[in-house]
Amino acid sequence: VRKFFVGGNWKCNGTIEEVKRIVAFLNEAEVPPEDVVEVVVSPPFVFLPLVKSLLRSDFQVAAQNCWVRKGGAFTGEISAEMLVNLGIPWVILGHSERRLLLNESNEFVGDKVAYALSRGLKVIACVGETLEQRESGSTMAVVAAQTQSIADKVLNWDNIVLAYEPVWAIGTGKVATPAQAQEVHSELRKWLHDNAGVEVASSTRIIYGGSVNGTNCRELAKQLDIDGFLVGGASLKIFVIYLIKQPE
Ligand code: 13P
Repeated sequence: VRKFFVGGNWKCNGTIEEVKRIVAFLNEAEVPPEDVVEVVVSPPFVFLPLVKSLLRSDFQVAAQNCWVRKGGAFTGEISAEMLVNLGIPWVILGHSERRLLLNESNEFVGDKVAYALSRGLKVIACVGETLEQRESGSTMAVVAAQTQSIADKVLNWDNIVLAYEPVWAIGTGKVATPAQAQEVHSELRKWLHDNAGVEVASSTRIIYGGSVNGTNCRELAKQLDIDGFLVGGASLKIFVIYLIKQPE
């Protein structure tokens, strides 16, 4: 059985005051125990130590990116080693905003995932198609190629959560329907089955991201192959209690 996973991706947002306010809210939240739901919040790098120090111990922290290899002369980058040194257990890699705005290729993302795992980080690896790709019928080819680039370099999937985030649904308020999301999630699971093995397919969490909120999360969570969420905008306002609740 796959433990439900709820991640909050704060992206490039927040001030010290706002961060403290969100964490205080989270610390008060009534949620199922950590063996039922895994809750992970992902602040910008500069707030990681603050959030880690204030956040309740049953919630975890993720960075939003890290450098592809060992740190060194890479101005402006943050290495996986540094995250480990800070005690940060998770990192989000391959988010579409980085793939599209910063030209991160499938191969580069695959290298990052492999390196972060090798340093002991757990990875939320993001895949997803653009509207144009969906409309041209290439959704599955796109997410399969993105996943293949990870599978090329990774054999052990124990510390990977796969996040399906259709680009057209991110920050648009245009959430994928439960059926649309389920379709891709089940295809991704089948892809894992065929390319990474039965065990990887049945145990890897595939979470959905893209305009998830306290209202639409319930129906999405009922889908067989949706094992949680990666929440953007809604995770900043209040990390709505619904989002954290285990679906019935
Ligand atoms: P929104 O929830 O704001 O659409 O963002 C989703 C996302 O990109 C999470 O990583």
